[in-house]
Amino acid sequence: MRKYYTMSRPCFCGSEVMFKKCHKNRKVTGEEFAKYIYQVRADKDQMCLHPSAPLTCTPKILNAHTIQRKGPLKYLIDEDNHLGQMNAFGENDVIRVGWRRASTFRGFCTAHDKEMFQIIEDEKFKGRVEQVLVAGYRAYAFEYYKKMDNLRVLLPYYDYADFEDERLANQLTQMVEGTRYGEGNMRSCLDEYKKGLESKNYEDICSVIIYFTGDLCVAVCGAFAPDFLIDGNRIRPIDSEIQDLSINSLVTEDGHAVVFSWPKENEVCNKFILSIIKYPETEIPSILVEVIFRFIENVFFSIDWYDALSSKQKENIKGLASNGGIRFEDLHALVPSKEKYVNWEITEIDLTPFSRTPNW
Ligand SMILES: [Zn+2]
Ligand SMILES: [Zn+2]
Repeated sequence: MRKYYTMSRPCFCGSEVMFKKCHKNRKVTGEEFAKYIYQVRADKDQMCLHPSAPLTCTPKILNAHTIQRKGPLKYLIDEDNHLGQMNAFGENDVIRVGWRRASTFRGFCTAHDKEMFQIIEDEKFKGRVEQVLVAGYRAYAFEYYKKMDNLRVLLPYYDYADFEDERLANQLTQMVEGTRYGEGNMRSCLDEYKKGLESKNYEDICSVIIYFTGDLCVAVCGAFAPDFLIDGNRIRPIDSEIQDLSINSLVTEDGHAVVFSWPKENEVCNKFILSIIKYPETEIPSILVEVIFRFIENVFFSIDWYDALSSKQKENIKGLASNGGIRFEDLHALVPSKEKYVNWEITEIDLTPFSRTPNW
């Protein structure tokens, strides 16, 4: 239903023409909507998501890296300082991205970005609880930011547009409701982490760290809500609340690590991780690669690594990446392919890095 819209305001569609001369008596076509989404996407939102924002913010909002510049990104770039990102819906498999743009978002002011993340940006990852916490915080902040940004784009149409095609209107409603729900979930994860960071009491955060040697060729920062165990069994009933799990790649003294962390109350996450680590250690690296491409969008990789994959492996990865975007219609378990994508070898799986008992 269309809300009241001021006649002499520029139209919600972004045409810069007044509403009464634009969409007042006209319905939005699918083509028009697609074009709008494509255009507004380019111009991104700005905010600072630091726990003490906006009180101590500096005016400049940074285009902040989610994967550390001096960390994983350094290992992924080619001679021209480019790295790859999956192009799940396009013709070419891979988008070449310059490292300055890779994995960035406008989610922290200059001061807070430095203050909060220097312990993972300037220091190697040593499994310290503060490092795990800020990495997890950044992953949730990134997902939260993306949802806010999506809402910013969708809401004008949701509130005011009259669609030619009812299916499109319903889709938009579903998208907005889903995004609002997801945004609330990410916000509550951020609140849990904020509590831990401020009180220095980390009892309510769980984590699992998997340490590797081998080439760091794929890196990730993001969060997702697991619905199925790796063996295919559903973890939570369809109508129960979703629970988000954060995942980060970090560089260590002699290799790299995949770091999962989550608020303790998200018990679904414990079960999901357990279903990965019960596999033989030789199979876990590839399962993780498949999990990363299946569930997270903010994934970057070395183009040389991707080029050297077999066509079967490329097909798998592209399939996983394009599934990730379809949330509501295509919920199914990830079935490990047993392909070997990476030469990673596990040196340690750290299940209890902090003074807390995970509820396995
Ligand atoms: Zn208009
Ligand atoms: Zn700030």
